Amino acid sequence: MSSDEPDFLSESMSRYLVDRIAATPNIQIHTRAELSGLEPNGDGDLAFARWKERDGGGEQRHEVGHVFLFVGADPVTDWLRNCDVALDAKGFVRTGPDLSRDDLARSGRRTIPASLETNVPGVFAVGDVRSGSVKRVGGAIGEGAAVVAQLHAYLADLEDRGQTASGQRATATWQAGDAIDLQREPGSCRGCRSGGPRDVEPR
Ligand SMILES: Cc1cc2nc3c(=O)[nH]c(=O)nc-3n(C[C@H](O)[C@H](O)[C@H](O)COP(=O)(O)OP(=O)(O)OC[C@H]3O[C@@H](n4cnc5c(N)ncnc54)[C@H](O)[C@@H]3O)c2cc1C
Repeated sequence: MSSDEPDFLSESMSRYLVDRIAATPNIQIHTRAELSGLEPNGDGDLAFARWKERDGGGEQRHEVGHVFLFVGADPVTDWLRNCDVALDAKGFVRTGPDLSRDDLARSGRRTIPASLETNVPGVFAVGDVRSGSVKRVGGAIGEGAAVVAQLHAYLADLEDRGQTASGQRATATWQAGDAIDLQREPGSCRGCRSGGPRDVEPR
């Protein structure tokens, strides 16, 4: 293992994991290697793995009993593009201070939304799908808890204005633990409705 390899790993992996890998003597790191084949033994269990070094060096074949794949995360948010919800270059949902001026201008907002709110008023994102989140269970749980307060603030604001985003009188009252029904039409969000987010004055 060359000395720059842990640094290469840190581009895509948490520091604590890189440090643990580097400190474990029976781990050999092959960065820039591409798995090229898996071979079973007579019982159908994995016996050998083959990989190619991307920087050259040909194919290697070694006795390997287990393979764990971690090939990255795909947020699967293409459908949100139709709702005007701002996404980052990898498709994660931008919220709060991560929104650009263009994102805000596009949805007619003059102020930065709450930390977990998207550019579309009333649409929030938490957990792995949110751009810049820590991609950990604890982070997702924490954001899930924190967003409840932001939802209450958003709904209270609507109540203060005496209307919902679609111009209807707000009738719901909200208490912790209540199911949240944003009066959505099936298959749509406010941002998809004609004039949706633009009906709401920026807060
Ligand atoms: C292999 C692996 C190992 C991990 N190890 C750890 C670890 O050791 N410690 C740690 O803290 N974290 C770990 N994580 C990260 C952790 O799993 C995530 O951070 C956490 O699950 C995020 O929770 P989430 O609710 O934001 O997203 P998810 O758990 O991904 O939940 C999102 C849910 O939404 C559903 N969904 C997606 N699109 C739609 C849609 N259009 N309509 C309806 N439902 C939809 C999905 O099917 C899924 O059930 C690991 C992740 C992986 C992949």
